[in-house]
Amino acid sequence: GPQEISATIILTALNRFLQEKNGSKMAFLDGSPTERLCEPLVHKITSGGGEVRLNSPLKEIVLNDDGTVKHFLIRGLNGAADEILTADVYVSAMSVDVVKVMLPKPWKQMEYFQKLDGLEGVPVINLHLWFDRKLTDIDHLLFSRSPLLSVYADMSNTCKEYSNPDRSMLELVLAPAKDWINKTDAEIVDATMAELKKLFPNHFCGDNPAKLLKSRVVKTPRSVYTATPGRQQYRPSQTTPIGNFYLAGSYTMQRYLGSMEGAVLSGKLTAQAIAETFPKTGEKQAKILTTSQPATNAATV
Ligand SMILES: Cc1cc2nc3c(=O)[nH]c(=O)nc-3n(C[C@H](O)[C@H](O)[C@H](O)COP(=O)(O)OP(=O)(O)OC[C@H]3O[C@@H](n4cnc5c(N)ncnc54)[C@H](O)[C@@H]3O)c2cc1C
Repeated sequence: GPQEISATIILTALNRFLQEKNGSKMAFLDGSPTERLCEPLVHKITSGGGEVRLNSPLKEIVLNDDGTVKHFLIRGLNGAADEILTADVYVSAMSVDVVKVMLPKPWKQMEYFQKLDGLEGVPVINLHLWFDRKLTDIDHLLFSRSPLLSVYADMSNTCKEYSNPDRSMLELVLAPAKDWINKTDAEIVDATMAELKKLFPNHFCGDNPAKLLKSRVVKTPRSVYTATPGRQQYRPSQTTPIGNFYLAGSYTMQRYLGSMEGAVLSGKLTAQAIAETFPKTGEKQAKILTTSQPATNAATV
């Protein structure tokens, strides 16, 4: 119910999305995130001399005696040895639930890190359903009136790469997913189909009902932090009390909510905070027009 949702969601929507020039526009990636989102990022990083390592999970944050980071211990996979990674500055872009588990013991006593306990990822399920015919021609994100399905879109209309004039490919978010996350894919698809029958009665009733050709269920047991009332005060700044350790991620304090834009903005704020603390001599730092301090608004108090 409304009492379970932070007013920050509504205030952010009104303050930002309705007032900003293209705030009401919905944008879809024109294809798969791996190719259209991650690959260009990797290219940008590697062409600037950086390196992107996949399948290199952080195992432990190892500390110096003064509590600063000595090195990251990277878990060796498939029998490979663990690896020590040393750097001038360390950034975590992991989601808040993982960060909490990874915190070294001495940091757990610090108020800054203790506040992270106020944030917890919500379970979300995403479904991809391919049908033998067109269910809708709407080229937009749709908010569903089903209590089980929150938003969905027909990707055959919204994304050029999945364009199909004859067959729908729906992507749906099943939320709240708390009671569904441990169910089988078949149970989740059946429940979703039962809801779709109510949303599209013309296509699923009668002699020749629409057929589901293929389905894929993607479960995220800990997704973005649950935006219940009072969460803003637990969102950390990108700068931590540890001199050589920073946080990034959409859960950290930035002016957007837990979102892709929020994640990008948090990364910029982290980069800015590092650049301010470790300035390059002789180079003017470009500043993004926002603050790295926790933003306040009516919902913060
Ligand atoms: C189903 C679903 C639909 C969504 N739809 C939208 C949408 O339409 N628009 C929108 O703006 N936002 C959407 N979101 C929210 C958006 O995806 C998140 O806000 C965003 O991805 C957060 O980015 P992040 O970089 O902070 O964290 P994440 O994207 O969660 O990245 C954290 C990374 O840390 C990595 N990691 C975990 N453990 C380790 C470890 N030990 N070592 C190293 N790395 C580790 C993970 O693999 C992951 O890549 C959606 C989320 C879900 C689940």
